[in-house]
Amino acid sequence: MRNLRLHGLCIFLLWMWASVSYAQNAVEALRLWPSPSNTRVVLDLTEAPEYSYFTLSNPDRLVIDLKNTSASVDLTAQKKSSPLVKKVRYSTPKNDSSVRVVLELTKKLTTEIFALPPTAPYKNRLVIDLTDGSAASSAQQPVMTTANSTRDRDIIIAIDAGHGGEDPGSIGPKRTYEKNITLSVSKKLAKLIDDEPGLRAVMTRTGDYYISPNQRPEIARKSKADLLISIHADAFTTPQPSGASVWVLSMGRANSELGRWMERTERHSELLGGAAEVIQDTVSERYLAQALLDMSMDHSLTTSYDISRNVITELKQVTKLHKKQPQAASLAVLTSPDIPSILVEVGFISNPTEEKNLNWAKHRQRLANSVFKALKQYFKRLPPDGTLWANNAQNEKRTHRVRSGESLSLLAQRYNVRIRDIKEANNLRTDTVRIGQVLTIPST
Ligand SMILES: [Zn+2]
Repeated sequence: MRNLRLHGLCIFLLWMWASVSYAQNAVEALRLWPSPSNTRVVLDLTEAPEYSYFTLSNPDRLVIDLKNTSASVDLTAQKKSSPLVKKVRYSTPKNDSSVRVVLELTKKLTTEIFALPPTAPYKNRLVIDLTDGSAASSAQQPVMTTANSTRDRDIIIAIDAGHGGEDPGSIGPKRTYEKNITLSVSKKLAKLIDDEPGLRAVMTRTGDYYISPNQRPEIARKSKADLLISIHADAFTTPQPSGASVWVLSMGRANSELGRWMERTERHSELLGGAAEVIQDTVSERYLAQALLDMSMDHSLTTSYDISRNVITELKQVTKLHKKQPQAASLAVLTSPDIPSILVEVGFISNPTEEKNLNWAKHRQRLANSVFKALKQYFKRLPPDGTLWANNAQNEKRTHRVRSGESLSLLAQRYNVRIRDIKEANNLRTDTVRIGQVLTIPST
């Protein structure tokens, strides 16, 4: 009797073991990240998924089969709504050890599915990116028409809040997510810009969703931005480093140890975001190499560098600086050679004091104010052609963009002013000027 019972228990344990080994993986959660042009659906899993999928029409559905997986979460409990997804539910699986997930879609969509490895704060994931091609192009339309209006155009500043959605960015010791800090500072900056006549802000993201690093400069390009400013918060493996820094695109390799480290983490962040960018990366590198030959690159780099210096000067008034000079690196968001682009690290989220400061709305407002002040100063001095500010400035003063072969003495002769006066008007310490540099020509 006793033996029999023990035997039964053994069989039961064996059966348990067998069923466990069949379903090694488990669906633990479902998350939805709707953005204006797409929706990202994420399934959180305990292990790397083995999956296959297919689509069905009338009505449009996406069906995903997960091998060796059990379902331990109620998918219908997900309350976030998306204009692209009606419902996510389970359906009859292919066999006992698999799970079938069905996404009921509102229309036919472009789908991209890939697995992501664990990265804090998430475990293994299966990511489903759903894009409505027709909506994405029409969303850009209003921007284009306002930019083409007859009156002197606005100076357009694209603000890029780093990370978002599935990608939290760096996480502070008190669990502050970089993506939330960057969005808050960006929104405050956008408000200041939009309140200023002649300036207009365009945000690459306005909510908590993911945009790939390659897509960010694309949004700036489509809205014909005069400047792309990307907002981030730094992090390091130790709590000591602190302070803000400003980054510009590097034509060569990163010019410092910190720059090389940034490039590595940026790559990491791309992996976090999705598989597509990693493949595209080689293409964008090639594109970059070609564009480097373009003359517009020269202007764009000079502008980026000049603006970054202004931003550093202003940031210094409200926060500690990590680097007193603009830093150069080839980061994905800065690979836009035709648009002047800078990246501002507003502080170290990994430093407990700075994490506290960044969580303080008043501090974030101060950061936004200082960046705004720097941009305003720069564009007051050098407004882009055809803008309201350029028109207003026309009668106020003359400027000259240095071309190849020109020197200070040549310019002094041409404008009939003293070299000393040009130097004074532009805060020059030496007699050297660089190609593309824009000088204020003092009145005689
Ligand atoms: Zn970041």
